[in-house]
Amino acid sequence: MSRVDIPPKILQKFREMFPNKSTSWIRRCIARLPDVVEGKVRGVWFVRGNAKLGDAYSQYIVKYIAGKYMCSCMERERPYHSRRRKELCTHVGAVILYRLLKGEIICETGASY
Ligand SMILES: [Zn+2]
Repeated sequence: MSRVDIPPKILQKFREMFPNKSTSWIRRCIARLPDVVEGKVRGVWFVRGNAKLGDAYSQYIVKYIAGKYMCSCMERERPYHSRRRKELCTHVGAVILYRLLKGEIICETGASY
């Protein structure tokens, strides 16, 4: 997905889904949008790593399994590992925003995290 203008309605909904997230978290998700690529397999997305956003890897894999989003950054051992596990990462946030923009059903996320 290339640079996108996010309709205010979508952005509003995205913020409402994550009331406890900071504005900077929301902004980082938006910044990642152009790096989201849909996988060939349903429920899998690739997010290109962005050094400016603190990524150490060139690619992250986000999966939607059994009602939960998982990101490869949560599985790997790294300094921020434990913090990332507790907090939803912006890779997953970007995928959710990507799906909102595509008009895919999102209410399934609910209180999954
Ligand atoms: Zn992640």
